[in-house]
Amino acid sequence: MAEIKSLLTDLKRAQHLVFLTGAGVSTHSGIPDYRSKAGLYADQVDPEYLLSHDNLVDHPEAFYRFVQTRMYYPDAKPNLIHTEIAKLCNQRGQLITQNVDGLDLKAGNQHVIEFHGNLYDLYCQKCGQQIPYTDYAKSDRHQADQGIIRPRIVLYGEQIEPEHLTRSVAAMQSADLILIVGTSFRVYPFAQLLQYRNSHAKIYVINNEKIDAPGIEMIQDDALTIFKKISEVF
Ligand SMILES: [Zn+2]
Repeated sequence: MAEIKSLLTDLKRAQHLVFLTGAGVSTHSGIPDYRSKAGLYADQVDPEYLLSHDNLVDHPEAFYRFVQTRMYYPDAKPNLIHTEIAKLCNQRGQLITQNVDGLDLKAGNQHVIEFHGNLYDLYCQKCGQQIPYTDYAKSDRHQADQGIIRPRIVLYGEQIEPEHLTRSVAAMQSADLILIVGTSFRVYPFAQLLQYRNSHAKIYVINNEKIDAPGIEMIQDDALTIFKKISEVF
């Protein structure tokens, strides 16, 4: 494929890489995609409500049951895409991920912005104490004060951490090559990050589903297939 050849050439030349990733990277680690048919949202009546700030406040038991049974995969391991992105980021790049599974950190990536937070970053809403996942797996109540524990992820109805936004915009502005991987790029404000790119930055999208956007090179394929090819060179 001509697109892959030019991607490899551009990857060699680039000095400031930015990767924007989504669920399609972690499906190969056994974590379901949010929006695909077999994914997390497929059999839910109102998934956006289940994962909303209102649901956490009004129905904490339902919220806990949903995230506990459907979102936590504590034994999941990073796959080749995570490790390859980590290698490139640690050399000369930045990852901005929508994923909340923490697999990029597990892969050793030192330049990660977890745009929507991390499921394993847990705290008690009453006293603010950090709580280990092993406690949350047993109960959503903090034993010490019966406060409700929650993950530090961005729920529907909540704002992105301002610091994450600032750092993401700065990374976009300095990037000379942007790779969008495993995401249909529909979630706002994540998708809006593209408007902060440097005008001469080249953009590739590696995704199963075609994305229509001006000025992008589309590689419509599975991310794992493409990253196997990248890993042969880098
Ligand atoms: Zn507490």
